[in-house]
Amino acid sequence: MKDCIFCKIVKGEIPSVEIFQDKVAKVFLNINPASKGHLLIIPKEHFENILDCPDEILSHLIKISKKMAQLVKEKLGADAVNIANNSGKEAGQEVFHLHFHVVPRYKDDGMKLDFIGKKDLKDDLEEIRKIIIS
Ligand code: AMP
Repeated sequence: MKDCIFCKIVKGEIPSVEIFQDKVAKVFLNINPASKGHLLIIPKEHFENILDCPDEILSHLIKISKKMAQLVKEKLGADAVNIANNSGKEAGQEVFHLHFHVVPRYKDDGMKLDFIGKKDLKDDLEEIRKIIIS
């Protein structure tokens, strides 16, 4: 993709602080880190998000994400890790080249990733189930 910033990173047209790469994937530090060691895992081939990415590539990316999570715990002393993906603008996706965030978490780092429950949706679970599985 001509104007995709992550494709340009893959091609070396713009710099990145690389951590790892293989034939399929690349890992680099987020330019605007939410915590020390915030990484992005991307496929070298352009996919917009999880939904248009073939399963084999997704499996590979999530395995690398796990390795990276282990690495930041081991090497940076992270206590925990968030692995996140935003698929679609309304979900907060800003760069439309699939990526997983690996966000190292440190005790008392003050960050809170909350999916706050909405009381008015609590009663609809059975109805929602019917719609989804129909
Ligand atoms: P998202 O909101 O999930 O699309 O996240 C996109 C992420 O890409 C943001 O956290 C940005 O800080 C990060 N980002 C954007 N441009 C670059 C870049 N050139 N190098 C590294 N990270 C970047």
